[in-house]
Amino acid sequence: RESDGPADDDVTVPGLPPLLRGHPDIHLRNGVMHASHLAASGESDAEKAFFVADLSYVFRQHERWDKNLPEIEPFYAIKCNPDPYVLRLLAAVGAGFDCASIGEISRVLELGVDSSRIIFANPCKATSFIRNSAKAGVDMMTFDNTDELYKIARVHPGAKLVVRILTDDSKSLCRLGLKFGAPLVTVPGLLTKARELKLDVIGVSFHVGSGCFDSLAYADAVERARSVFEMGREAGYAFSLLDVGGGFEDVTFEATASILMDAINRYFPDRRGIRIIAEPGRYYVSRAFSLAANVIARRAPPALDASPQDLDVDPEQPSVMYYINDGVYGSFNCILFDHQVPQPYVLSLNGSFHVPASVPLRPCSVWGPTCDSIDCVCPVTQLPDALQVGDWLAFENMGAYTVCAASQFNGFEVSNVIYTTGGGAGAAEVRRILKKALEDC
Ligand code: PLP
Repeated sequence: RESDGPADDDVTVPGLPPLLRGHPDIHLRNGVMHASHLAASGESDAEKAFFVADLSYVFRQHERWDKNLPEIEPFYAIKCNPDPYVLRLLAAVGAGFDCASIGEISRVLELGVDSSRIIFANPCKATSFIRNSAKAGVDMMTFDNTDELYKIARVHPGAKLVVRILTDDSKSLCRLGLKFGAPLVTVPGLLTKARELKLDVIGVSFHVGSGCFDSLAYADAVERARSVFEMGREAGYAFSLLDVGGGFEDVTFEATASILMDAINRYFPDRRGIRIIAEPGRYYVSRAFSLAANVIARRAPPALDASPQDLDVDPEQPSVMYYINDGVYGSFNCILFDHQVPQPYVLSLNGSFHVPASVPLRPCSVWGPTCDSIDCVCPVTQLPDALQVGDWLAFENMGAYTVCAASQFNGFEVSNVIYTTGGGAGAAEVRRILKKALEDC
């Protein structure tokens, strides 16, 4: 895919800091950023599925955050998408990082980020991870149970602890409260134990659930956090940190930010000496990535225009099955783990990149490439009659909880990422990049 011409590293990317220019892995040509270590060559690569990532979108989300929540420091939840250039960009603009493991902490530290800009936001950590986080100078970490306090007291007594409380996440896509968060009635006991162990508890965190469309959940959670600040005072602590977690959604962001700030103003009217942080993940990356996938196979009734009765098939079920080269064991694991319902659009039709706005559609299903029947991307959708093997489909909003959990089950490789800086991750840009990639092959 890469030509051998000189990298055009001097191209100015409007709105983006120059941090990604001059990087040994990055080549910028015609406004399209290629990561050379990811680019492969050869025949098979021509049909490989790939992500298009618009880094300037991530940058704009950061500006949007600063505009709407200037008092709240974002600590990007790297679990959501640890793409090296997303991390590099967010490190350069001064974001902090929410890490869930020593692996994530190492990745962030390798970027030159100071350990004070990391929160180890996993309330149930392996003792070795706590020990290594002490060695790395990462002090800020969450807990929600007594055993965690004993482990921390043993291997990282200087930690700055944040009690993660349970909040109402019933309206969120992923209910994290099923696994984490101390019910408020247990908090006084936890704080007493922390005091006994001479541990420093500096504040409160919550997570209203990942994919939270109910902005009022943040207001309720802030009220609970306020009462835990009082519990802290009674236990002899002067809390100085409020961590409002993640869950922020792109489409409801402004409304959520306004409700959250109203609640903070109401429950923390005098917040001198209180630092407020958040752990957004999907907000930053979801819409920054699209995925293009090739139709590698099709199963259709022998005579596509015969009536269902003639073919003895269920008329309710789509009779045409398309197979693409990424599936639920790869990038579409978001269907299983993140409750997503991806919808394809057509990038190329019958070999042509010109896809008319209106073409006859047919009900069909879309499947991943593995030999497992759970590997279904769309059980029922509508795609053009003329769609053939070799054509391309694309999917938007593929940046969150996709590539990070993709496996290589059945020997299928994880899809590459091609970076753009300003072209967006919409149909026109994805088509342009695909055309160019195919020409280069
Ligand atoms: N913080 C913690 C502790 C999490 O577990 C998660 C997601 O699971 C996040 C932040 C990020 O959540 P989101 O991507 O919904 O913003």
